[in-house]
Amino acid sequence: MLLCKTHKIIIFVIIVKIKKHIMRYLLYIILMCCLSLTTCSNKSENRTSKRIKAMSIVSLKDKSEAIKLAKQLERKGISDKLVLEAIASVPRHEFVDSNLREYAYHDRPLPIERNQTISQPYTVAYQSELLKLKHGEKVLEVGTGSGYQAAILCEMGAEVYSIERYEELHNSSKEKLNSLGYYPNLFYGDGYEGLPEYAPFDKILITAAPEKIPEKLLQQLKIGGWMVVPVGDRRVQKMTIIRRTGEDTFEESLHGDFIFVPMEKGTEK
Ligand code: SAH
Repeated sequence: MLLCKTHKIIIFVIIVKIKKHIMRYLLYIILMCCLSLTTCSNKSENRTSKRIKAMSIVSLKDKSEAIKLAKQLERKGISDKLVLEAIASVPRHEFVDSNLREYAYHDRPLPIERNQTISQPYTVAYQSELLKLKHGEKVLEVGTGSGYQAAILCEMGAEVYSIERYEELHNSSKEKLNSLGYYPNLFYGDGYEGLPEYAPFDKILITAAPEKIPEKLLQQLKIGGWMVVPVGDRRVQKMTIIRRTGEDTFEESLHGDFIFVPMEKGTEK
């Protein structure tokens, strides 16, 4: 078939455009794959945080939902880039029941086993921001629950210790976190006791609500470190920061009202 010069030029331009389009699409896919393959791990035998390759977010749809959630939290006032990046990287849908999958990236708490909840993403981000984490800091989380908050702390480069009072939740969160490539140090026990054998901690994060500040945990803080804890009765709690300023001196500040599940004494099978 004979083509005139104009036709040839048009075909040439179309080919160039298609090539450009394909290249851009390929670059996008490569970029997304790189982003989703990077996550962090804290192995108990290796106390320093390190990043390993893991399947953190597998599909582009999940990745874009997590990015959208991070943007939404930024609009709501979260500004710590480390926190926002972690929210955009952790696949929250993996931590909720499959029949709640469609709500996984909504900014709301969701039920998990044993009548507990996975906290609202805003609350997770807010508490994480109050920690002002530096890379490699040693953090104790009380209330592993689904494991989502622990994954966020891992993504932020912390050396994570987390304790849960329900054995069932301890086991299921461990399995989930490990399957996603996160290896925080997880314990089944009563958070009121803390982990004296691993203390002192740079930061302590409590994700259930005690009526009073747990005294034993204050002793497990480094001097200069602090605890983020929602304190109050079952109706409402004040987000509180207790900073250890000396061997026996502490400073307290309040950071708004929240609602958490209660922090209960003892352990349950
Ligand atoms: N951080 C969790 C939130 C879970 S809700 C997440 O990201 O999913 C609070 C959790 O604290 C529950 O799992 C509850 O069982 C746990 N909890 C309550 N009291 C506790 C205690 N004394 N010690 C350890 N865990 C406790």
